[in-house]
Amino acid sequence: MPEFGKYTKQLKKLIDEAEHILLICHINPDGDAIGAMLALRRWISLRGKDARMISPNTLQQFLLWMNDVDKVVDFHNNGEEGTRLIKQADLIIMVDFNSRSRMGKAEQLVLSSGARKVMIDHHPDPGDFAELVISDTSRSSTSELIYFLVKGMEGKEYADSDFITAVYVGIITDTGNFEHGYYTGDTMRTVGHLLDMGVDKDKVYNHIFSNFSEDRIRLKGFALHSRMVVHPELHTAYIWLTKEDLQKFNHVKGDTEGFANVLLTMKGIVLSVLFIERTGFVKMSLRSKGSFNANTLSRECFNGGGHRNAAGGEMKGSIHEVLQHFEKTLPSYRKELEAAAAGIKT
Ligand code: 5GP
Ligand code: MN
Repeated sequence: MPEFGKYTKQLKKLIDEAEHILLICHINPDGDAIGAMLALRRWISLRGKDARMISPNTLQQFLLWMNDVDKVVDFHNNGEEGTRLIKQADLIIMVDFNSRSRMGKAEQLVLSSGARKVMIDHHPDPGDFAELVISDTSRSSTSELIYFLVKGMEGKEYADSDFITAVYVGIITDTGNFEHGYYTGDTMRTVGHLLDMGVDKDKVYNHIFSNFSEDRIRLKGFALHSRMVVHPELHTAYIWLTKEDLQKFNHVKGDTEGFANVLLTMKGIVLSVLFIERTGFVKMSLRSKGSFNANTLSRECFNGGGHRNAAGGEMKGSIHEVLQHFEKTLPSYRKELEAAAAGIKT
């Protein structure tokens, strides 16, 4: 990102000038959204300034162990408090999203607020709804970006325990513990510093990747055994789960996290999709390998977005209607799918 120093200076000035700071992350927040928000809030609060936090909806179970996560106001369940916080704010910092609709029901209130607005994000094509847009697609995660911004604002590595833990959560979530996603030498140097400063990597790993319920493991087995469709000639595999399937396995939010990634470990597969039926619509998670652009497919096909290799979207209709739509559309991406498959390094 060009002129990093300029951004840190501007961000610091906005934070210093503000009285009521509000941080907001995207709907269905993942570990990076929450990690980035908690990390930045921790730094701000240790500078003697209060900052409040909003999530557009409920947090996933696997994040609830994090310090100060209980201070995040769930806008869906507590709209009154959320509304009060948005109205009161004179600085709103939006983390880990690039499109306004990712704020869910809080979108209109945030955008019509007179507060100054900052976006800190690592997704491509940032929208134009903040006066300061700190967008860096070369970062593994927004949390990594926050780490560098805080380092810039502090003038040195920032070793507070809650801060480094939150940054680490974001990095290992968005890279699947360095198994996929995008990461660089900078990411690894950051991780090196986090370990030097004492981040408890085993504790974080266990909470995020090794803390699943029996139901979740069985749901995964069922999904892979009975709900997986593979189109080898299109280098695509997908899983679909109905509401009844989820009920049968006592599904809680977050249980299907990572399912789509599993399919990508199949030889020759460069696109995987997980379709989850909700009431009146279907939510999908897309993962891709190499040059295949899941972000484009999600935008064109599912009103969604994301990164090149990890995107999501949703579509109205029953799961069968949505799958029909997908099956009909998929062959039009044949050339791109074949090119991506041919480009896989072995
Ligand atoms: P996940 O599949 O883990 O929910 O999301 C993968 C990526 O796609 C994340 O970077 C997330 O921000 C993005 N994403 C997920 N769902 C949506 C959506 O409905 N709309 C847009 N624009 N992005 C999404
Ligand atoms: Mn992220």
